Amino acid sequence: MAVEALDRHLPWPFILRVVDLLAAGPPPRYQVQYRHYPQRHPVLPLARHGKMDLEYEKDDVETRPEDRLLDDVALVNTKTHQQQPWTWIRATFSMIASLLLAGLLLKTIAPASFALLIGRDGGGAHESRATAGDQYLLGVGKGDITGPVVEINLMGYADPNQLGTGLRQRLYSRAFIVGSIDKPEDRFVYLVLDTQSGDTAIRYGILDGLKALGSSYSVYDHRNVAVTGTHSHAGPAGWLNYLLPQITSKGFDRQGYQAIVDGAVLSIRRAHESLQPGYLSLGTTKVSGANINRSLYAYLNNPAAERAKYNVSASDDGSVEKDLTLLKFQRASDGKNIGVLTWFPTHGTSMLGNNTLVAGDNKGVAAYLFEKSTRDEATAADGFVAGFSQANVGDTSPNVLGAWCEDGTGQMCSFENSTCSDGKTQYCHARGPFFRVKDNGQSSCFEIGKRQFEPARALYDSLQSTSTPVQGSFVKSFHTFQNMSEFTFVLPNGTQVKTCPAALGYSFAAGTTDGPGAFDFTQSSTSTSPVWQVVGGLLKAPTAAQKACHQPKPILLDVGEMTVPYQWTPNIVDVQVFRVGQLLIIVSPGEATTMAGRRWKDAVKSTAATIFAQDSPSSSSTSPVVVLGGPANSYTHYITTQEEYTIQRYEGASTLYGPHTLAAYINLTLSFLPYLGASSPPVPAAKLGPLPPDNRNRSLSFITGVVYDGTPLGKSFGDVLTDAAPSYTRGTPAHAVFVGANPRNNLRLEGTYAAVEKLNGTSWKTVRDDGDWSLVFNWKRTNGLTGTSEVDIVWETEEGADPGTYRIRYFGDQKNALGKVSSFEGVSRSFTLV
Ligand SMILES: [Zn+2]
Repeated sequence: MAVEALDRHLPWPFILRVVDLLAAGPPPRYQVQYRHYPQRHPVLPLARHGKMDLEYEKDDVETRPEDRLLDDVALVNTKTHQQQPWTWIRATFSMIASLLLAGLLLKTIAPASFALLIGRDGGGAHESRATAGDQYLLGVGKGDITGPVVEINLMGYADPNQLGTGLRQRLYSRAFIVGSIDKPEDRFVYLVLDTQSGDTAIRYGILDGLKALGSSYSVYDHRNVAVTGTHSHAGPAGWLNYLLPQITSKGFDRQGYQAIVDGAVLSIRRAHESLQPGYLSLGTTKVSGANINRSLYAYLNNPAAERAKYNVSASDDGSVEKDLTLLKFQRASDGKNIGVLTWFPTHGTSMLGNNTLVAGDNKGVAAYLFEKSTRDEATAADGFVAGFSQANVGDTSPNVLGAWCEDGTGQMCSFENSTCSDGKTQYCHARGPFFRVKDNGQSSCFEIGKRQFEPARALYDSLQSTSTPVQGSFVKSFHTFQNMSEFTFVLPNGTQVKTCPAALGYSFAAGTTDGPGAFDFTQSSTSTSPVWQVVGGLLKAPTAAQKACHQPKPILLDVGEMTVPYQWTPNIVDVQVFRVGQLLIIVSPGEATTMAGRRWKDAVKSTAATIFAQDSPSSSSTSPVVVLGGPANSYTHYITTQEEYTIQRYEGASTLYGPHTLAAYINLTLSFLPYLGASSPPVPAAKLGPLPPDNRNRSLSFITGVVYDGTPLGKSFGDVLTDAAPSYTRGTPAHAVFVGANPRNNLRLEGTYAAVEKLNGTSWKTVRDDGDWSLVFNWKRTNGLTGTSEVDIVWETEEGADPGTYRIRYFGDQKNALGKVSSFEGVSRSFTLV
């Protein structure tokens, strides 16, 4: 029986789940096995990245990802994945030798020599250091994290009916490692994942994966790994640690979870293997037209004097932050730039709630455009990585034309609570720059991505001549877990206050103008989620103490006090800050609003100035630069100011731990900040806090696997059903339809489902793949019983594409009735683009 048929009968998922549990073996993992990996040295790299580095080959043998990664670390370049003892010995010696060699080089080659190497100044060590800043160990890497692109709920809008139907753009983890030259164990990893947020299950998985890579990775742990999400609402769901977000995704999806973890670990490994001395420089620029405040009514409840400080002009009234901060990574060996990391706040909600194609939303577009722009540039290294990290995103929206009622009235939604003529929020929709194009937000998404990319790229270019170097050879980090259900602390004004167990207010169910009211699963009788059918009855009324603690929030879901079948939302939160030189990165577990982020950053900045003054050697001459990245490490929903909390719009209703949530985060951050002093010891183990629950192996799941694939009579997998036209004009879409199979059979990580090939003389060369925004992979089940499906591959040919002869290729994997998966290909006729 095919998937759709199963879905229609509720008992089947239960039965499948029971069968699954009875099988009692380790959960199945996807079956991609990396066979071939170019030899790398752990410290002095061959600095090649990107998907072309890896050839993957599907293997019928199920392989644990740990084994696969061990293979690669052992620097085995072999056709077999069998681990052999001598390869380990050789690898260990090779690593030790490389480390010794690197150490020797660093000790003997003065910074001045590197300055000469990068062709700057040549005026002696002192002058060049002032220009380029201090040296750090730097590495960047990128890994594919694209989970199942069909039949799985998309994460963010919490609409169980929003299921994936294909892929517009692969999702990535981008890793940035910064380490101290003098104390290489002082380092941090900043990850930017094309996901809705960071997460506890994902973080546990990444740390497990790093542990499995061997001793040279033992330097990475809770303290110094930040797992941030771009807040894209266009990726598969089902990988989060807590119950609440699992409700709409029908539970935990191990395939998608593992894809994120493995891709993130791969990105870290690539960054780690590329570590080498280099320079960091900083810059800021204004981004216009890429964000507005979607909860202005709440923002205006912040003190007028405070708001006035940020009200610069009519176009920059301070209601959102327009600054983009960019950190440039440049290697010392040849002066080439290896990557950029940027922070700018705007929601990943350009792709709307009716979109069903997987993509990285506007941050994914910005990163794609930036990386593409550096390809073949002499100043950029191969494998250049551009991370567009999210910032204080809470009340921002990329739908910059505002929120309008789609109820025929032509009115804007009400200012106070975003309702329309019927008093409800359902008809209130925010508009992106191209809202008139009925493409589920894709045109607007590309535009908002471009509006971030262009100023970032201009800033990057200007940093080539004038830049603010990062100075002070300190790379420091701290991380602590805090149970917010029982945190008592003193406000700066001397009042003792406390946070409360997590709870969500009524406006949480109403949603936002970016995605109104989809999370209305409290109507349990109409809920389509099997998870809700199991857990809905467990909801309990909050106690009087809990109600009082959250005042003035009226509690809808008392999630923090519900532990059956396991915790619904986090009570234990991550508090983390990284420091390199004068740059401090607050790693926020929730979505801080514009003003909440400012207060947090300002508090850190003033305390850091005191710490800098005590540094030895002193860094007091450089004033602290503070950025905030998140949602990271976990997902603790929103963080508003207390004044915004009083208004109880969506963001206030989703501020989990009561009115003092922000103050608690600030208090915790400041109390740990002294550990970031130049000569401060690491945080003692006793202060690392209680570990959050690990729900990976006890999460509910009603997600059924692929049963089998079939073909129409007389057809084979990959056969062309609708061929490409003989010719297309540039700017119009070219497409071909194939006999398809379920893409969940093989995620084709580091590979592609679709390709455009161009005829070059007598050979075909791939010129577009799944990583490209313009190539769209659509999958459609045509018959649930026979298991047939179609794949429609569309190349939205660009105005600037090269004229020539092309064809479209499809890479598929079909599952037969016995469960065996085998790959196949399909190819369209060749066509000309004129
Ligand atoms: Zn959000």
